[in-house]
Amino acid sequence: MSTTDIPYTTVKTIAPVKAFLARTHKLLINGDWVPSSSGETFEVENPSDGTKLCDVAKGNAQDVDRAVKAARAAFDHGPWRTMSGRERGKLLYKVAELVETYADEFAQLESLDNGKPVGVAKAADVALTAEHFRYYAGWADKLEGETIPVAPPYSGARYLNYTVREPVGVVGQIIPWNFPLLMAAWKLGAALCSGCTVILKPAEQTPLTALRLAEVFVEAGFPEGVVNVITGYGEPGAALANHPDVDKVAFTGSTEVGHEIVKASAGNLKRVTIELGGKSPNIVFADSDLETAAAGAFNAIFFNHGQCCCAGSRLYVQGKAYDEVVERVADMTRNIRLGPGMATETQMGPLVSAEQKARVSGYVDAGQAQGGKAQFGSELPGGDLEGGHFVRPTVFTDVKHDHKVVQEEIFGPVVCPMPFEDVEELAREANDSIYGLAAGIWTKDIGKAHRLAELIRAGTVWINCYNMFDAASPFGGFKQSGYGREMGHHALDNYLETKSIWVEM
Ligand code: NAP
Ligand code: MG
Repeated sequence: MSTTDIPYTTVKTIAPVKAFLARTHKLLINGDWVPSSSGETFEVENPSDGTKLCDVAKGNAQDVDRAVKAARAAFDHGPWRTMSGRERGKLLYKVAELVETYADEFAQLESLDNGKPVGVAKAADVALTAEHFRYYAGWADKLEGETIPVAPPYSGARYLNYTVREPVGVVGQIIPWNFPLLMAAWKLGAALCSGCTVILKPAEQTPLTALRLAEVFVEAGFPEGVVNVITGYGEPGAALANHPDVDKVAFTGSTEVGHEIVKASAGNLKRVTIELGGKSPNIVFADSDLETAAAGAFNAIFFNHGQCCCAGSRLYVQGKAYDEVVERVADMTRNIRLGPGMATETQMGPLVSAEQKARVSGYVDAGQAQGGKAQFGSELPGGDLEGGHFVRPTVFTDVKHDHKVVQEEIFGPVVCPMPFEDVEELAREANDSIYGLAAGIWTKDIGKAHRLAELIRAGTVWINCYNMFDAASPFGGFKQSGYGREMGHHALDNYLETKSIWVEM
């Protein structure tokens, strides 16, 4: 009997999720839930079976303008500006608590909307979201300046010089669909902690948990206009990036749109941080524990169905360990259970959309056309799930460095193992990419691991682990993986201006 014949145990949708899905969702502008100015809505799809989940307001440029005006008023005149950091922190703590209170609801909505397994959504996405808000709640009353000894050579007087850190202002935050709730948290935590006001734009594919989170902000008692949420199809993101009264845009998504955002920012020289894609090398040395390294390599690529900006999609394995590691990864890949996000047996859900499935399938075809050998895992689920956007996880052997599947970000469950011998040559090849987001190194030789970590041009290097995240540790890219860091105190720099104040004494 193949795994596709084993029935799924579907998690029961809880009452608040049913109630949430029964409603048509509006935009949050200035503390009010309002329809789009066009009156239009769009359908949100369940990627596990292609059915409709609910309708959501189709926001446009006019709605963005309304939201920017609300955020500007809240920044310039609202209580947010004069509130102490400690009070802002208390509100953020409340958000963390409410996210935990509603953990099952968030996990189910995320699973239904994105397709990821509901257990993973709860243990990773929801748990990290709560931790993230709690971490930045703690920073809100610790945004200190400095006193600086100064002595201008042309003046005999004495001066006190000190700095204060002030919020950048009105911030547009544009997020993708791979971790819809967590990406909202990454963006909102640091911005709100810093005292900015925000217009959040979720991805068209996955607006639901951002909308539920918006309800949590209202429930927690955030002043009106501090957090605004505009759902829509393409237009609101571009409108935010171009808006002359937005002081800063933070974006996570494709490199292509990243370029657009940077161009759009020139209008009013708004501050920009961008977190884009990756083609991350995961490097296994023959002296590593091969069973652990193979399991690590498997998780590095297949977590979240390969829809991770930091996915370990280029798997470099040292010569004599190559066959064993590839065989182990291929074995695990064959045994992955594909299924709907809401089934307890599911190890890998569908991709987020038909578009993404077509993109990934296109890469698999291109890889084969260039001579790569695709070893396909797991059979596709049939029956009621035939409308779902499932793809078969794939291990691509016999690929070369210049093949499309090795060079370009696939953003799906496709891994390209390649053998290497020499460390210097490996480092050159690993770095020969337009991207520089993350890397993995597996070895028992800790000196070698540190030396290689130094050579790799990437924002994060994991040694004998992969996909480790903590609100306290910075994450972001080198090269075309973007600029600016999320998380840690580093993210606060994105949202704060430094003001230098001089006093003659
Ligand atoms: P995308 O177009 O970059 O979408 C990401 C976000 O940007 C969405 O909220 C989107 O809004 C918004 N957006 C789209 N066009 C915009 C514009 N001109 N100005 C401002 N915002 C804009 O990504 P995608 O098309 O969904 O995915 C394509 C590829 O991007 C993936 O296959 C993957 O390679 C990469 N990607 C990377 C990440 C990452 O974590 N770095 C995440 C997702 C995707 P709408 O949804 O309304 O269009
Ligand atoms: Mg797009």
